[in-house]
Amino acid sequence: MDQLTEFLTQNPHIHHATPQSPEFKELRLGFVFNESRTPAIVVRPRSAEEVAALIPILTKNNLQFTVKVGGHDMFGRSQVSDGVIIDLREISHVYVDAESQTARLGGGVMAMDTGDATETQCDHSTGWTIFGGYGPLSSKHGLGVDQIVGAKVVDAEGKICEANEIMLTGIRGGGGTLGVIVELTVKVYPSAQILAGTTFYKSSDLAAEIKQYNAEYSKAKREDLPSSLHLYQAILNGPVGKSLSIFFMWASSDLEEGQRWLLRVSSWLPIGMSTVQPTTHRDFGAFTNTVIPKHTYGTIFTVNFYDLTPEVLDVIGTHAQRQPNNPEVIFGVHELRHDAPREPTFGTVFDNRCAHYLIEMIPMGSSPEVYAEGLAWAQEFVNALSKTDAANIVPSTYISLTPPKGADMGKIYGSRYETLQRIKEQYDPQNVFKNALPQF
Ligand SMILES: Cc1cc2nc3c(=O)[nH]c(=O)nc-3n(C[C@H](O)[C@H](O)[C@H](O)COP(=O)(O)OP(=O)(O)OC[C@H]3O[C@@H](n4cnc5c(N)ncnc54)[C@H](O)[C@@H]3O)c2cc1C
Repeated sequence: MDQLTEFLTQNPHIHHATPQSPEFKELRLGFVFNESRTPAIVVRPRSAEEVAALIPILTKNNLQFTVKVGGHDMFGRSQVSDGVIIDLREISHVYVDAESQTARLGGGVMAMDTGDATETQCDHSTGWTIFGGYGPLSSKHGLGVDQIVGAKVVDAEGKICEANEIMLTGIRGGGGTLGVIVELTVKVYPSAQILAGTTFYKSSDLAAEIKQYNAEYSKAKREDLPSSLHLYQAILNGPVGKSLSIFFMWASSDLEEGQRWLLRVSSWLPIGMSTVQPTTHRDFGAFTNTVIPKHTYGTIFTVNFYDLTPEVLDVIGTHAQRQPNNPEVIFGVHELRHDAPREPTFGTVFDNRCAHYLIEMIPMGSSPEVYAEGLAWAQEFVNALSKTDAANIVPSTYISLTPPKGADMGKIYGSRYETLQRIKEQYDPQNVFKNALPQF
């Protein structure tokens, strides 16, 4: 650690915080409290060159380190005991090139930095983009990982390099295991006004409402559901109490057609309240940020299904009724729809390309006691889902939302795991980035 301290003394412009610094607590914290792993220092480089200067100091002195951007990993994997967090948030430039319809995003960019100039698929952060990235524009433009067209990386030797196609293949799904990504180039799309918000259905019989909604939704999918419409169903303890709630986003300039879809979705069940309105990606993102807790006790469980069969919907109905009445306990359904662009022409190790539903149970709480109630609910729920027809469960899971304990890399990366291993061997044979996701 002495060499790192010396380096920081010689480079006083590089912000850093140790446990004695007043800002340490806030800087080290991720979205979920991870009290078991306290880092020794958080270092905030401002450029690729500063990251490049840092890496050899860490490797030569055998210092454990991780990379952190939003800290939104649900298992606190941006933290490392007694080691160094490289916090990239100060590398947050956004350069849009309208002609090539791409944007260069600093490795520390979060959604709120990307602004309104474009409809970008970089929904949350670099971490969201590099591991998969399910989002409200996935049906229209594909997953976050499929938006990556270039990357600047500080590699295992501390050199700054433009990723070639082989390295990019590994980054698209394999994230930061090959190096520190100091810049991503992603596709962007012309920006338009959108319709977005949440529709809260009235609730009297949650199990029946879940079945009714999914019957209507499946019918719309079979008939004419447009790719510009995203519907994320959730059970939320919101303004009308515990209810089936639909996060609605219409991402097309034809707002009249969007309003027609809003009316149609609103007719599927009696409405308790709706916040859906014309807005922009930036305003909506800013609003969403205000309703998500900054830090919480919590974790996540997921199961991927090919279909929401009557058996699966029965289990969901039963456990929705038992969901604790705590606004921080959430059940929700992401989806990779059959109509989403999902077979990219470039290399990637993100394997799970079949149409599927990603069911998530997110127990959270402002205190360990509140969290414990949600955790017990989520564990029972996931156990019941795991016992449904095995032929309907997608073997692959999403690395960002897969608990590290017992995570099966072969299942996560499927047929592309060998490719990822080969690329890792080529670019990081000494496993310098051993604390990065995915771990080898
Ligand atoms: C409230 C919330 C909502 C979410 N919603 C969604 C959603 O809708 N869809 C979805 O797909 N996922 C979602 N997620 C999961 C989230 O996208 C992933 O956990 C993502 O990896 C978080 O990114 P981050 O930059 O905050 O990661 P951090 O926690 O900061 O970092 C986690 C790890 O990612 C790697 N990493 C991140 N950035 C870099 C980089 N620049 N260079 C090298 N390595 C890097 C490192 O290994 C790091 O340790 C959500 C998570 C939360 C907490």
